[in-house]
Amino acid sequence: MKPHLSQRIQFSLAYVLVAALVLSILQSWLLAPRTVEIPMSKFLELLRADKIEKVALTEREIRGLAKPGALPSPPSAAGDRLRQLLGSDDDVRVFTVTRIPGVEEQWLIRELEQHQVEFAGKIETTFWKDLLFGWVIPLAVMIGIWMFLMRRVGGGPTQALSFGRSKHKIFDRKELKTTFNDVAGVDEAKAELIEIVDFLKNPKKYQRLGGRIPKGVLLVGPPGTGKTLLARAVAGEADVPFFTLSGSEFVEMFVGVGAARVRDLFEQAKDKAPCIIFIDELDAIGKSRAGSTGFVGGHDEREQTLNQLLAEMDGFDSSKGVIICAATNRPEVLDQALLRPGRFDRQVVVDKPDVRGREAILRLHARAVVLGPEVALGVIAARTPGFAGADLANIVNEAALLAARKEKNSVEMADFEEAIDRVVAGLEKRSRVLSEKERDIVAHHEMGHALVAFNVPNADPVHKITIIPRGVAALGMTYQLPTEDRFLLTRSELEDRIAVLLGGRVAEELVYGEISTGAHNDLERASELARMMVTKYGMSERVGLATFGERASLFLRGAGAGLGGERDYSEETARIIDQEVRAILERTQDRVRGILTAKKGVLVSAAAELKRTETLEGDRLRRALAGEPTEAQA
Ligand code: ADP
Ligand code: MG
Ligand code: ZN
Repeated sequence: MKPHLSQRIQFSLAYVLVAALVLSILQSWLLAPRTVEIPMSKFLELLRADKIEKVALTEREIRGLAKPGALPSPPSAAGDRLRQLLGSDDDVRVFTVTRIPGVEEQWLIRELEQHQVEFAGKIETTFWKDLLFGWVIPLAVMIGIWMFLMRRVGGGPTQALSFGRSKHKIFDRKELKTTFNDVAGVDEAKAELIEIVDFLKNPKKYQRLGGRIPKGVLLVGPPGTGKTLLARAVAGEADVPFFTLSGSEFVEMFVGVGAARVRDLFEQAKDKAPCIIFIDELDAIGKSRAGSTGFVGGHDEREQTLNQLLAEMDGFDSSKGVIICAATNRPEVLDQALLRPGRFDRQVVVDKPDVRGREAILRLHARAVVLGPEVALGVIAARTPGFAGADLANIVNEAALLAARKEKNSVEMADFEEAIDRVVAGLEKRSRVLSEKERDIVAHHEMGHALVAFNVPNADPVHKITIIPRGVAALGMTYQLPTEDRFLLTRSELEDRIAVLLGGRVAEELVYGEISTGAHNDLERASELARMMVTKYGMSERVGLATFGERASLFLRGAGAGLGGERDYSEETARIIDQEVRAILERTQDRVRGILTAKKGVLVSAAAELKRTETLEGDRLRRALAGEPTEAQA
């Protein structure tokens, strides 16, 4: 193991401390004059024989210096030879006498005067007090600091003190009530994991024909889709102990801790087999070693932890019934070594739920909630494409809280609507006041989006428009309701999406003759879509079928995945791509301009209606978009 910088500093610091301590104890012991304890009678004898030079009186003892040769030599002590070597005075002249309480006060002084002994009083500083304040307390403090450092260093370099214990939690069946019934909407993942549970329950059945039980199962999926939940359910169903530890807990400031934790975790798990080890957020330790150049030490630490993990996974035998489960939402950064067979050889994709899955999850979480009779969870599910299980759980909870605040007896549809808006766009900010002009612009902008969506063949229908500011940046919002989940988009659908995105900006331009900063996000998304069409989907004749840019991410789903990473094409191609992207955007903008110019009357009247009501949905929205007379006019 390569010693690490901060570790080296700590250890030399510790050595210096210890050395200083030992030296100073030795010194005070060597340099202190040797003393003998003599009885009071002997003291008086010496005094009367004028063999005493001076004394100091304290309450309990007399400490004195005898004239040379007056005192008998004490039995030789351990340090004598050392003293001689150091050349210190061999003659013992210092003595102590224990005083007889309350007896010798007056006459002792007189006697001392008579024999012309120099004498003085002295405040009692007992040996024990000296020891306590001079040594014990400072030492205790130092040892305390030392222990603290050791704890941080953990069991890495010095295993003697076993501070590197793993922080994992162990759950028993009793506390772990999670079962597969608590997970909904991820049926494929569930089916795969049920098989794992079966491995744990009947290992013999699978090994009968010589098969090998998988060692590791990697749950892969976006955040909040229920990976942690699934792992707990596996343990709950399999009726075995469940060790859980988050990847980030392995990575500590000090080198060696992570590796020691891994070792400890596996040791304990082997004792408890059959059991499940669950490592959440595996990417925190399992990052590819190749590309990482962390700050000093960070890299080293993770590498050691990862190596330890790999070694432990190789070192045990899954027939003993230890299965390692791990979860990550970034499989693409994991080290290849983790993914090869014999380690995490099973990968279970836990994807975002589809509309039926969402309904099932909503139903699951609504079990504990009093629902109003008109609540249709299917409609809520249809309104929440792209939501993960955690978002849906959150919506149910928010809705229940909202209804409770309004002192309702049950949670109604309106509460769910509001909860969705909250989760989608943050809290409603009625307190943010927009000027009349700003509201005007926002209304036209949003109506522009909606009107384009209404008038192109392939856009998702608009379901709600609002100019109530929400979240951090949104001043208004146009909600489109996909009629189904989309996994595939055709070229004309993508073009219509871009058209809808450009609708806001074009509407501002048509009505005001100028544009505001409000379209920033729209343009970003529109260019991204256009760029994807050119570089990923081969939808541009000039660029052709080749794809460009970074490796497509695992969860690339129609629109929305970011670009970036390394460019794998030439300057020339880059220019053509840029031109093509611009061409798509310009072509679409012209089309949008055509649509909105033709419908300018509708745009203006509908925007006015939107400004009046702040939110338009349902039939009123449909009528406004179709240019039918509004309630106000009727
Ligand atoms: P992940 O680990 O994938 O990020 P979690 O398992 O921590 O997500 O999910 C967080 C919470 O969201 C869960 O405790 C659960 O309440 C809810 N949840 C997520 N997915 C599901 C699901 N498929 N079924 C039921 N509840 C879910
Ligand atoms: Mg999790
Ligand atoms: Zn917009």
